[in-house]
Amino acid sequence: MAYTIKDGCISCDSCRPQCPRGAIKPQAKWEGYWIDPTLCNNCQDVEVARCVQSCDIGSLSPLVPKKGRRKSTLLPAAIADIFLSGKTTPFASSMVIWEACNVLAQRQHLPWQTDVDGKLCYRRPVHRGRGEIRFRLAKNPEQDYSVAMAEHEATETIANFDIRATCLHLIFAAYAITINSPWEESFVINDQHIEQYLDLDKRKDLNKLDKLTLIKDLVYQSCQLLVALDWPRQGKVKAFSFDEQPIWHLVNTEYYFEKDVQGGRHLIGLSFTIRSGIWAKHFLNKQDYRNQTAFYQYGTLPKSLLTEVMSNWQQHEGEVRLLLWLLFKLRLGGDHRLTIRTLLRIAYGEERLTEATTVRGAHKRLLKTFESDLETIYYYGLKPMFDAETYPADIQPLWAKAIDIPNDVDEALEFWVNDANQNRSLTDTAPRDKWQRLINARLTGFDLSEEWQQTVRRRAPKRRRKQSQTAQLKPLSGHVIKAARQRQNLTQRSLAERLGKSQSWVRDVEKGRFRVGTDDYARIQQTLDIK
Ligand code: SF4
Ligand code: SF4
Repeated sequence: MAYTIKDGCISCDSCRPQCPRGAIKPQAKWEGYWIDPTLCNNCQDVEVARCVQSCDIGSLSPLVPKKGRRKSTLLPAAIADIFLSGKTTPFASSMVIWEACNVLAQRQHLPWQTDVDGKLCYRRPVHRGRGEIRFRLAKNPEQDYSVAMAEHEATETIANFDIRATCLHLIFAAYAITINSPWEESFVINDQHIEQYLDLDKRKDLNKLDKLTLIKDLVYQSCQLLVALDWPRQGKVKAFSFDEQPIWHLVNTEYYFEKDVQGGRHLIGLSFTIRSGIWAKHFLNKQDYRNQTAFYQYGTLPKSLLTEVMSNWQQHEGEVRLLLWLLFKLRLGGDHRLTIRTLLRIAYGEERLTEATTVRGAHKRLLKTFESDLETIYYYGLKPMFDAETYPADIQPLWAKAIDIPNDVDEALEFWVNDANQNRSLTDTAPRDKWQRLINARLTGFDLSEEWQQTVRRRAPKRRRKQSQTAQLKPLSGHVIKAARQRQNLTQRSLAERLGKSQSWVRDVEKGRFRVGTDDYARIQQTLDIK
């Protein structure tokens, strides 16, 4: 329970220096002081609160919680819901935003170093070392001028970063897209919008103050990142640099209070005014993009990703890190060869990977966690495609093999007959060298859910000529593929191996659950000899 300052405060300033949390603040607009309830922790470590002890006129008292729901009508109008389709929204997806997302998600697992100023810095080479992005942390995101944190303070702050701050970072990146010159104009976002985007409105276990405190923490963490950049010439866009600046300027935080009959002031709302940093002038500049002197880089943000982060951030942190990374990595489509070593490094950090490869027995827990996280990604809607050569069935997770079991009774029977005739059966234990083979294995990409495919579809006009050729081809129906496969005496599994796909992919295509894409069209035709 937080404390509150009632009417009658004479602004003597005795209490403010006593507060260890910096929760007591002078009013900007009128005389008197107020307590920020998102910071006040009730001085739980002492019997009588420090501020109460120092106030001679008894202006301070504990805030008695009010019952019932309150929704402020005072909150300023903010930009309407960004998820206009209800499912996805465009968002700024440049390298700066991607790396900032990695900083918030991977935190102390990134190779931070002490720089020449004695501050903690994360440096990321770009374009094969011809350029560089540098990140440090702002001491106080409320101050417009950026002062980087000292090393020891930054180390502690990074370790305490909440991975859910990535959601705010992505929401800001989506708001930035809605503005013409985002580095000049700001946008306003209030707690009601954030609650809705993060599904916090459904959380019955948190009271209003808990939610507001969480929202403010997440907003402030995402506004703590400072970035400096040296970018090499790329095509017609000349080389450019900029000095350290916040990625998101926290221009203002507005608190909305409601007074009760005892004079207690209840925090009922928050709004934040945010402006994009100068990075947007180079990477989100529509005007200069037309003149080919700047970039305009954006992708598609699925709302389901925010929901996934908010639900799994504790139980499946590795999964959440991978999804956030894949959001940027797969923006050109799901066909990306990815080594398992890279995925392990992104999900669990270099240190844990090294431990698993050097300490006897340490790999077992990491392997189990990875397979479970990969399964969670699959059920979220991104189906991993195992490379037939380096990631064969005998080292694939059991769940990946189990999903290939058909629902249809006859097909299931055929599946188990085939399984019994194979050298290795689905139910065999994993080979002893599974870990060594796994870290050198690859995925050929991910089959993307509909929401995740939208970025790829948006790029379709560029491939008009190639697509128009494909469009002239007769569509390959599931029945045609199944009949051709059976003519060749191939099982779904052996066809999948020849195509470098999973058996469930073949099954889904045959059942007409999705259409064969341009790249796979020719491969299927050739493998099954379809004229
Ligand atoms: S109760 Fe403690 S933490 Fe809260 S405002 Fe007073 S001194 Fe600060
Ligand atoms: S000590 Fe009491 S009167 Fe003085 S600023 Fe604090 S609340 Fe106001």
